[in-house]
Amino acid sequence: MSLQGTYDPQNIFAQIIRGDAPCYKLYEDDDVLAFLDLFPQSHGHALVVPKRSAARNILEVDPDALCKVMGVVQRLTRAIVDELNPDGVQVAQFNGAPAGQTVFHIHVHIVPRYAGQGLGIHAAQKADPAELEQLQARLVRRIDG
Ligand code: AMP
Repeated sequence: MSLQGTYDPQNIFAQIIRGDAPCYKLYEDDDVLAFLDLFPQSHGHALVVPKRSAARNILEVDPDALCKVMGVVQRLTRAIVDELNPDGVQVAQFNGAPAGQTVFHIHVHIVPRYAGQGLGIHAAQKADPAELEQLQARLVRRIDG
């Protein structure tokens, strides 16, 4: 899908926001939802999405909604770094299929990076549910704490 197009309310993140599809939730408020990436590129890969925006990408999203998302991105990045001790962390956001976007509801990736470990392939390998559950519990404790 290119940068131009219409928002599909059946996209997987819209389903997760509505509660029609499951997720490993890390944080939620009235405007923002954060959850673990199901096909993580590294240990602790998380996603942050606006809940009220029918926006596919950064060109369409309301600036106030974007600000709220970025506030949560910072809070969650701090929690991930405190809990998992990565050597670096990437914060990324893709717009349009040629830029790597595969889900067309705007979102921000938080990808912890560990020295000597390459990046997993994007959206390719489903994580072990038990590992995601364990990670979710650790990060929720850290965010709430
Ligand atoms: P992007 O390619 O930037 O659109 O990122 C979409 C991300 O969503 C990828 O990293 C996928 O691994 C991830 N993803 C796809 N489906 C799900 C899902 N059901 N729950 C959590 N993450 C997902």
